[in-house]
Amino acid sequence: MENKTYDSIIIGSGPSGTTAAIYGARADMKVLVVAGNPPGGQLTTTTDVENFPGFPEGIMGPELVNKFRLQAERFGAEFVNENVTGVFGSFEQGFVVKTEAGDEYYGKTVILATGASARYLGLESETRLRGKGVSACATCDGFFFKNKEIAVVGGGDSAMEESTFLTKFASKVHVLVRKDKDSMKASKIMQNRALHNPKIEFHFNTEVLEVLGDDSVSGLRLKNNETGEESKLMVQGLFLAIGHTPNTSFIADLIEVDSVGYAVVKERTKSSVPGIFVAGDVSDHRYRQAITAAGAGCMALLDAEKFLVESGVKSEVAPSW
Ligand code: NDP
Repeated sequence: MENKTYDSIIIGSGPSGTTAAIYGARADMKVLVVAGNPPGGQLTTTTDVENFPGFPEGIMGPELVNKFRLQAERFGAEFVNENVTGVFGSFEQGFVVKTEAGDEYYGKTVILATGASARYLGLESETRLRGKGVSACATCDGFFFKNKEIAVVGGGDSAMEESTFLTKFASKVHVLVRKDKDSMKASKIMQNRALHNPKIEFHFNTEVLEVLGDDSVSGLRLKNNETGEESKLMVQGLFLAIGHTPNTSFIADLIEVDSVGYAVVKERTKSSVPGIFVAGDVSDHRYRQAITAAGAGCMALLDAEKFLVESGVKSEVAPSW
């Protein structure tokens, strides 16, 4: 029978999960990455990544995350593109990781590197028109809005980046920000890029009340939250760029999470449960960068390895260079 017991099961295959896998495989540990389906995490929905060291010309997000995976596989890390439905057990009993496909994998340690998912506004009309003009992934869906007028909700870096990217396709992009210009979360450099783009128009203090349209988006009903005035904006697409929710629902019964759902880190990368370690955006609501997630993946694996040694399971910590 196939041996499904691993020194470490890494859940998630973004920068943190794949970096943990590279370090684990190079430390001669038997590691499995339960990569998610689709695998790769948030980087797969990003265009140019210009701030990951080692790529002076920039690199596309999907290409970068694919390189991480190839590097981990080169050293023997195993990957399965499955979604995890639950994690059970303890270090003493061993951990069981169950997947949507009905598989069970057994881990001496677990590294949680599941990142965070895009948020939606929560409007009924938005849910109904998801995939019919409503999207949270500009990279995936921008192409479908060639020469169309569209809107992006959000005032953070994602909204700036996505609205700028969408001008490649759309005839005009409206950015809807619920706060005023001076309170936007986005960094100045990203704001300025969007503010100076002639195809982008900003609407401040503006909220979406309803997405209009039967089979596809035909417009938005908006409200100015300063004046209370309602208006309509005739657009054919709506992109959400309003932040993310950490992917912990399948493990929140086992480990401690905060009020938003972020995994609580007790000491370095340790979760509240001995043997479960945490890396990347699933616990990081501050930095949320590919490079910080990768660094955290390295730290989590080194901590897991040391934990196994200290518990007498693995004889020696392998050099990590
Ligand atoms: P942020 O949390 O930074 O921003 C979310 C934005 O959405 C805020 O403007 C927020 O408004 C708004 N928002 C939240 N909920 C709602 C709602 N219900 N209705 C309307 N607006 C809403 O998330 P981002 O995804 O933009 O960025 C996450 C992290 O990733 C940041 O650290 C960012 O710097 C980084 N990032 C970096 C990039 C790069 O460097 N290339 C690209 C993209 C992201 P409010 O301020 O009122 O809460």
